[in-house]
This record gives sequence, structure tokens and C-alpha cells, in this order.
Amino acid sequence: MSRTALVTGGSRGIGKEIVLSLLRDDIEVWYLSRSEGEGPDRLCEQAGVAAGKAHWVPCDMGNAQSVAEALDTVLAATNRVDVLVNNAGITRDGLIMRMKDESWEEVLRVNLTGAFLTCRRIGRVMAAQRSGAIVNVSSVVGIMGNAGQTNYAASKAGLIGFSKSLARELAGRSVRVNVVAPGFIATDMTSVLPETVRQELETRIPLGRIGQAREVAQAIAFLCSEGASYITGQVLAIDGGMAM
Ligand code: NAP
Repeated sequence: MSRTALVTGGSRGIGKEIVLSLLRDDIEVWYLSRSEGEGPDRLCEQAGVAAGKAHWVPCDMGNAQSVAEALDTVLAATNRVDVLVNNAGITRDGLIMRMKDESWEEVLRVNLTGAFLTCRRIGRVMAAQRSGAIVNVSSVVGIMGNAGQTNYAASKAGLIGFSKSLARELAGRSVRVNVVAPGFIATDMTSVLPETVRQELETRIPLGRIGQAREVAQAIAFLCSEGASYITGQVLAIDGGMAM
């Protein structure tokens, strides 16, 4: 039986690489994002799989109605979901003294509530199947904290407690829930950082370099695979040793 996955924020960055890794593992993928990115056909081509194995569903993860409609679309097309990766995420950085209510609320809504909404709906599907793997994308910032990112750190730390609780709730149905905590990865999200900040950050990474989106995606694909069948409730840092 062919396996199916749902990935939030698969249009670019780490999410795009997650889609490619899952496609290469022979999994049919639905990705949810506001923009299509390069598009499902091009992603299949890049992964070297037959066209039609990737699907894009427009969705704003910060809008509960939009999430509900996107999940309706996916579940109408496939009655099983083997893999769920909550990757969509945003930053709205600023020191707390100057942080606007909207910056706090938007980050929590997209990064944490978005994952709650998909896990509640798809968790039910996986529990009924008595199988499934969920990976939620947190950050080392959720473990270590970072000045100027109280909102982002709260959302990412929240994802860790959320995922461990969900892992305990779903373990009896053979559904595994894990978290990855990437460090400093080269994507649009980090491309806005000034060169001096990048260089300073690099000195704090034991492996001495910024990570690639592909390196995060491969670890996620492993956590979703049979090879990780006895792993649940864990937080895997993918950070070149930054948070040890
Ligand atoms: P990115 O390059 O900015 O990509 C973000 C992805 O999330 C895009 O696919 C985007 O798609 C989607 N997204 C954003 N807001 C959305 C919304 N409201 N609804 C639906 N999709 C939305 O970021 P990235 O670096 O790949 O980050 C991916 C994940 O890794 C995030 O959760 C991030 O917090 C986490 N992370 C990244 C790093 C890093 O160093 N890059 C480190 C730790 C953790 P659309 O714009 O098309 O909607």
C-alpha cells in the first residue's frame, strides 16, 4: 500500500526539502502553504519520481477556517495519512518592550495553534488507522531562548510540551510523535540576518558551519520511517552541536 504524507509550509526552505525527501521515500505528499512555490510537478521532477505524486493545497496556517478547508481537501483525496509534518513557521522578531500584540499573536497562531489544528484532525485519522508518524518542527530557540524572539521561542517551546503530551496520548494507537529542533539553517528565514550576526552565530556552532535545509529534511524523513519505529516523544536537535 502506498504511503501518504501531509506537510505544512512545503513551498520553500526546509519544507520544500521535506517534500522532496518524502517523495524519494516513495510517499505521496500533500503540502499546505499560502504559495505554491515551484509547484508539485517540478518537485516530482526534482525528486525523480512520477508526476502526480505531489499535490499543493492552498492554506493559511494562521486561519482556522483555511486549515479546516485544506484538511477537508486532503482527506477527500486520500482516506489515510501516514505522515504529518508541521513545518510552517514565521518570525516577527523584536524586544519584548516594543513587541506589538499582533506580533505575539500571529507567531503563536501560525507556529503553535496551526500545529494543534492539524494534529487534532489528523491525529484522529491516525488513531483510527492505528498507525502514523507526526513530526513537529521546533527550534533550538525553543530550548535555549534567544533575545528578541520571546514570541517565537514561546511557540517553539510550546510545540515541545505539546508534542510530548500528544506522544503519550497516541502511543497506545501506535502513532509516534517527535520533534526536531533545527539550529541555524540557510533559508529565506535566516537570509535576512546581517553578515556580522551570521558570522557571530557560526562561531557558536561546534561543526563550524550553517546547516542546509536538506540536512533537516533527511532527519525528519528518518523519524517518519520504519527505521524509527521505536522512537516517540523525542526532541532531536539538528544544529551542528549548538544546543548540547
Ligand atoms: P521559510 O524559508 O521562511 O519558509 C517558511 C515556510 O512556511 C514556507 O513554506 C511558507 O510558505 C510557510 N508558511 C509561513 N507562514 C505560513 C502560513 N501562514 N500558512 C501556511 N504556510 C506558511 O522558513 P524555514 O527556514 O524553511 O523554516 C521552516 C520551519 O523550520 C519553521 O517552522 C521554522 O521556525 C523552523 N526553523 C527554521 C530554522 C532556520 O534556521 N531556518 C531554525 C529553526 C527552526 P508560504 O509563504 O508559501 O505560505
